[in-house]
Amino acid sequence: MVRVNNVTPGPTKISENVRIALSLEVENTDLSLKFYEKYKLVTTKIQKLLNTKNDCIIMCGEAILGLEASVCSLVEKGDRVLCIGNGIYGDGFVDFVEMYEGIATHYAKPHNRKIDVTELSEFLEKDNDYKIATLVHCETPTGITNDVKEICELLKKYNIMTIVDTVSGAGGEKINGDIIDIVIGGSQKVLSAPAGLTFMSISDKAYEVMENRKMPIRSYYANLLMYKDWYEKKWFPYTMCGNLINGLDVALDNILGYDSVAKHEMIRKKVIKTLEKSGLELFAQNGYSNTVTAIKVPDKIDFETLNQDLLDQKIMIGGGIGEYDGKLFRIGHMGEQCDDKLMLKTFEALDYVMELNSIRLVHRLSDMYKLL
Ligand SMILES: *Cc1c(COP(=O)(O)O)cnc(C)c1O
Repeated sequence: MVRVNNVTPGPTKISENVRIALSLEVENTDLSLKFYEKYKLVTTKIQKLLNTKNDCIIMCGEAILGLEASVCSLVEKGDRVLCIGNGIYGDGFVDFVEMYEGIATHYAKPHNRKIDVTELSEFLEKDNDYKIATLVHCETPTGITNDVKEICELLKKYNIMTIVDTVSGAGGEKINGDIIDIVIGGSQKVLSAPAGLTFMSISDKAYEVMENRKMPIRSYYANLLMYKDWYEKKWFPYTMCGNLINGLDVALDNILGYDSVAKHEMIRKKVIKTLEKSGLELFAQNGYSNTVTAIKVPDKIDFETLNQDLLDQKIMIGGGIGEYDGKLFRIGHMGEQCDDKLMLKTFEALDYVMELNSIRLVHRLSDMYKLL
């Protein structure tokens, strides 16, 4: 049987050596000192991935847990928080902030372009009394990457702390963790490991702010302070997922073993150029993500047909989420899926499906891709 090729923007295809690592025997993670050393080793690899010297931790739970935990631990009742949103995840931070009684200012910008740093700078000149700002590195639902470095440097000038979601960025996009207070990543996107882990870097200042809150953090599971000094105490707030962490360890070796950002950039350029020349319409106007591309579903076909026809060709793409349901389809070229052969296969299948549905392209996608 021919297996379906995963070209979705996550959960991505899991690397074979990661699958093997998952099955290794794990000693009791509470009692085995070996496990604490393993966890520490993996966090040093996360520091490399996030390009930071800040403390890094791994929590058992989806990346959404990381987003919630960062807001829950830093935001207090009445804190002003600037939620920089040019996509579904960026906008979504408003809900987390309000859930934890912060006062969110939604800096809402169009979803089809990256945040304009000059415009943000002008906004901040007039209003900059924020304790924290939240933003997303790569908006997976729409394929936009923001200039996180420039944005965070700007926010730093006003002493605004930063929470950055790089769940679908880290490993595929450049990141400078040292200038960010909390950076959140996940296992199931670029790293091509199973879902179930979120990892993050936490600055000293972030720990300090958590320790000096007026009200204690209103969560146990999502309380990041629980992770301070885990190594010295040889203690975690709950049982760690030893097997998943073994998998993450190998996944990190995979991604750190080559210049992954350069490769993701190279493949992204080819994918974007191919689509542009073909006549299919990209959703993004600028800020093309290195890890995922969102394309408008052509008028002459509906998403269900496109999706089913591609599945018949053993290609599984991603669809649109929320307001983009039925309107966009997405190709995830991240981690294991950041691969020329897979992209070519995807474009060959797309060519076939376009012909099948009498949609004429300016150029065949696969021919174009081969030329680049
Ligand atoms: C995938 C993703 C998340 C996490 O979503 P999960 O449902 O926990 O996998 C968060 N932010 C972004 C930008 C993502 O792409």
